[in-house]
Amino acid sequence: MKKRACKNCKILTEANECPICKSTDLVANWKGRVAILDAKKSFIAKKAGFKTEGEFAIKVR
Ligand SMILES: [Zn+2]
Repeated sequence: MKKRACKNCKILTEANECPICKSTDLVANWKGRVAILDAKKSFIAKKAGFKTEGEFAIKVR
C-alpha cells in the first residue's frame, strides 16, 4: 500500500490518520521522501520544521 502524507505535518503514514496531529487530511499526491532518524540532531529536520522521527514528504499537494 502506498503511503500517504499528512497535509499539516508532511509525515508519511500507512494509517488512516496522522500519527502526529491525528488529522485525517492525508494526501497520496506527494513528492520526495526524507527519513528523519533523530529530529534533535538532524539539520534537515530543523530546516523543514520536523519535530519528530519518521518519514516525511518533501512536497505535499
Ligand atoms: Zn499531521
